[in-house]
Amino acid sequence: MHRRRRTRIIATLGPASSSFEMIKKLSEAGADVFRLNMSHGSYEAAAKLHATVREVEKATGRPTGILVDLQGPKLRVGVFADERAILVPEQQFILDMDNTPGDSTRVELPHPEIYQAVEPRTELLINDGKIRLLIDKVEKDKITTTVKVGGEISNRKGVNVPSAILPLAALTGKDKKDLSFALDLGVDWVALSFVQRPEDVREAKNIIKGRAAIMAKIEKPSAVHAIDEILAESDGVMVARGDMGVELPMELVPAKQKKIIRHARRAGIPVVVATQMLESMINAPVPTRAEVSDVANAVFDGADAIMLSAESATGSYPEEAVSLMNRIARTIESEPSYLKMLGKDNTAPEATTADAISAAAKQVAITIEARAIVTYTGSGSTALRASRERPETPLLVLTPNIGTARRLALVWGLNCVYSQDAVNFQDMIDKACKICLEYGYAGIGDRIVIMAGMPFGTPGKTNVLRIARVE
Ligand code: PEP
Repeated sequence: MHRRRRTRIIATLGPASSSFEMIKKLSEAGADVFRLNMSHGSYEAAAKLHATVREVEKATGRPTGILVDLQGPKLRVGVFADERAILVPEQQFILDMDNTPGDSTRVELPHPEIYQAVEPRTELLINDGKIRLLIDKVEKDKITTTVKVGGEISNRKGVNVPSAILPLAALTGKDKKDLSFALDLGVDWVALSFVQRPEDVREAKNIIKGRAAIMAKIEKPSAVHAIDEILAESDGVMVARGDMGVELPMELVPAKQKKIIRHARRAGIPVVVATQMLESMINAPVPTRAEVSDVANAVFDGADAIMLSAESATGSYPEEAVSLMNRIARTIESEPSYLKMLGKDNTAPEATTADAISAAAKQVAITIEARAIVTYTGSGSTALRASRERPETPLLVLTPNIGTARRLALVWGLNCVYSQDAVNFQDMIDKACKICLEYGYAGIGDRIVIMAGMPFGTPGKTNVLRIARVE
């Protein structure tokens, strides 16, 4: 029932993947976590998807995570008298606070914060960066620009301001409503869009209060710059390459992706690589070789999870896309060079008992050829440290908390079993052996390594390494 793949797969749900049958197919093809994107769809649709994932989880018996992605403070222009206008290079174009419909000379930009934050000689990008405006002059409620790259601009197109940290709240009014709805549903992860600084994560944390894990989407240059401070506040991070490729020159995205993965792995915080991984599979059953290579590289870099967006939400081949991601990850992980490459980026254990035990478990398991490393966890923190070691030996996580099992579903290598708490130390060893046998990790006579805490049942107190023989 458990997968031997270490890299996890997140599949975004949408019109192409809303039925019980399809979500079950995606789960069986390899999806570990399902993402609901609050930029699209109604509450009714989201609640239905949430309930369906929980039904699928019951049917498969595999703890399955649900991640809700909040839209965040996306800036947009107003509307045009003719719905659209054409801008030509070197013409002047004005953005202002006047809500009169726009034309090819001006349009409303209804975000007063921008007027205070931007400076002449910096750029404003519109429609995913397709239109580029160079700012000439900034007044209280008017920005005069010169069009550098022209094209069609239409109603409510998105605006990016890469060079500035905008005094925008991390959560808009819509986000707060969406968040409250998602927390009531009982989702496992909440992703925050357009995080600019660590305070943005802290603000969400004050509202979420531990009811869901928080994933900071890294897409702004300021967030890449403050990655360590953001990691310190977050439960996970996402390399959100879509908007990052607008906010930064596209050619910088691969290096930033590697940097974010390296820093997240060092911190022991799960990291997701997202967007356009198998983009051509939206319309075709087979991806490009370059896309396969992109997925493979994220796996080689030791990302915790790889994500599908439109491929699974609206594409024509959602099951094929998940299935292919599964195959790519499994194939790469079975390459002899894989663990060697992962090892290169491993950082030394920190001076904590949990890290010392995790590092020792990895080494002991190699020495005695153990079939599994079993860790007991309530909150998931010990399991995260064990995963940070990226051990070759399979990791089995036993937890009495289904919420923990679901949150850990996107973490590298963690195979979670929801199990009643053991009553004493011997019971814990017996349970670990029994579950290893039952799930096919070990046979009779094989050895396993168990990480546990004494005094028994104290959270965050993993301090014992035990070798047991399965009988
Ligand atoms: C991204 O920008 O890469 C991303 C994951 O966010 P969204 O899908 O909301 O654009």
